Amino acid sequence: MRTTVGIIGAGPAGLLLARLLHNAGIDSVVLESRDRDYVEHRQRAGILEQGTADVLRAAGAGERMDREGLRHDGIELRFDRRRHRVDFPALTGGRSVMVYAQTEVCKDLIALQLKEGGPLLFEAEALAVEGADTDSPRVRFRHEGTEDVLDCDYVVGCDGFWGVSRKAVPAELTRVFERTYPFGWLGILADVAPSHDELVYARHDRGFALLSMRSPSVSRLYLQVPEGTDAEAWSDDEIWAELERRFETADGWRLERGPITQKSVTPMRSYVHEPMRHGRLFLAGDAAHIVPPTGAKGLNLAVGDVVTFARALTYQKETGSAQLLDTYSEACLRRVWQAERFSYDMTTLLHRAPDATPFEDRLQLARLERLAGSRAAETDLAEAYTGFPFG
Ligand SMILES: Cc1cc2nc3c(=O)[nH]c(=O)nc-3n(C[C@H](O)[C@H](O)[C@H](O)COP(=O)(O)OP(=O)(O)OC[C@H]3O[C@@H](n4cnc5c(N)ncnc54)[C@H](O)[C@@H]3O)c2cc1C
Repeated sequence: MRTTVGIIGAGPAGLLLARLLHNAGIDSVVLESRDRDYVEHRQRAGILEQGTADVLRAAGAGERMDREGLRHDGIELRFDRRRHRVDFPALTGGRSVMVYAQTEVCKDLIALQLKEGGPLLFEAEALAVEGADTDSPRVRFRHEGTEDVLDCDYVVGCDGFWGVSRKAVPAELTRVFERTYPFGWLGILADVAPSHDELVYARHDRGFALLSMRSPSVSRLYLQVPEGTDAEAWSDDEIWAELERRFETADGWRLERGPITQKSVTPMRSYVHEPMRHGRLFLAGDAAHIVPPTGAKGLNLAVGDVVTFARALTYQKETGSAQLLDTYSEACLRRVWQAERFSYDMTTLLHRAPDATPFEDRLQLARLERLAGSRAAETDLAEAYTGFPFG
């Protein structure tokens, strides 16, 4: 098998890249190790930055998002039983975010790819990327029980944190920057209308809580829990009671309960792999970097990477210059580190470390007071939350 761009992984990064290349007249093959149903139902991100929503629209994949997604013009910060709303459009010259689940983004892109795009092979597991530093890199993969080879001009590793493509970058050329956190998120999906019409980020002495939503009738809620917590150790009643405690306000706000349809625990990690390119292998999305979900940046960073790659390859096709491909890693990493900083700031602002001292508790509250009382501080948050420009 042969193609111009071999794409490993059909998460948001790989699927959007295939679409952008198709629109630019560049052929690709996508290899995905899991089956279609699994990819379409894996619960993950839900917040699309303004720039991400614009890219999906421009790629012809925004129709259902515009119909069913929920435009959000702000978030609420909750601390000390008080509420403070951050108004995005007022602080950023009109920018907002879109609540539209990653599962739905993937469904839309898969449908388009199967209808109009190049091959998308499910249950096709990449085993290794070979010859990344030559002009003809190859992906060895297994599909329907048989091993095969995909010969490419370029390989883009969009295979997430646990994929194989990162391993093709020699260790002596690699630098890894990493931080793990001593807590995780217990996330639930519940069949109940969201109790608030915007996301609520709550800092509480018992730990962080987040109220989010998937649709007007489905709530997504998270609780900070100790690292290594088993989701099944929490009964539904215990989860609701703890959420109520952490969201409590002085003005009598109420959290509506409903049947919990799914619960799981997500670990928290910050991770960056440098460089994001080795020869003709390019890394994109979670294959190269992870952020804790507090800033809602992971999916958006994946989109930024593949937009940068698609532009660079299109530029090379049109002008013959590899200049933008050569600077891919630096261009992506500038944005990645801004998202790492923001995600770290939001995480340390809102979560309570198990060994937090009273001094650190007071500092957290002082940082939140500053956000609630300073337009400059709020603007910084609003600009980062609604998204950094795509290079
Ligand atoms: C619980 C949770 C909540 C999150 N919330 C948010 C949020 O609110 N906002 C946000 O922006 N981000 C959020 N994220 C992060 C976001 O989901 C990820 O950053 C995003 O999925 C990255 O997309 P990706 O395409 O790079 O990687 P992935 O979505 O991980 O896709 C990688 C794909 O590669 C496939 N693959 C792996 N290995 C191979 C192989 N060897 N061969 C072939 N295929 C392979 C995988 O099956 C997968 O389909 C959240 C993540 C989690 C876990």
